[in-house]
Amino acid sequence: MLNLVLFGPPGAGKGTQSQNLIEKFQLVHLSTGDLLRNEIANGTELGLEAKKLMDEGKLVPDEVVIGMISNKLRENANVKGFIFDGFPRTVAQAEALDNLLASHNQRISTMIALEVDDVELEKRLLLRGKDSGRPDDANPEIIRKRIAEYKSKTTPVANYYQNQNKLNTIVGKGSVDDIFSKIVEIIQEIK
Ligand code: ADP
Repeated sequence: MLNLVLFGPPGAGKGTQSQNLIEKFQLVHLSTGDLLRNEIANGTELGLEAKKLMDEGKLVPDEVVIGMISNKLRENANVKGFIFDGFPRTVAQAEALDNLLASHNQRISTMIALEVDDVELEKRLLLRGKDSGRPDDANPEIIRKRIAEYKSKTTPVANYYQNQNKLNTIVGKGSVDDIFSKIVEIIQEIK
């Protein structure tokens, strides 16, 4: 299996690159942000709880997202691999993911980290907010809160994978196609 962690701050382009990667490598896309928004759309109890935190730009509790990922791994037993997008976002989530995959005799193949500066991120998210309908994209204060959450809680996840020699950093500015080519190069090297 090819199991990729796509890593980077909000607005780095993880969703866009995921779509390209799914097509090329026939992977299952697991975005915890999408899964949570799906719960909200369905009006579940989990969705109601998550919505409050998401609208404030805060992370939802580790147990919640780990539980969702655990279900998805179980539901997709015979696939070519997964793209983890927006997960793991804390070191506790990264450890839980390693354990979950190990229980399926699987492992993370590599991590690809997209690097984009704060000014560009804010610009991209505000632009996306114009038609994404996402409340967390509409307000500059919330956007800055999300970037701050990323810096304090999520950045250590890169070290976690670096310690496993699985960290690949790519500059996330430039054309979508150029960035995609760089990601594909990294994947070809490990395949
Ligand atoms: P972005 O990467 O653009 O911030 P996401 O769609 O990945 O957007 O996430 C939106 C929100 O959902 C986050 O701000 C957070 O509140 C919540 N969320 C998504 N994934 C996780 C996660 N792995 N752990 C905790 N909260 C998460």
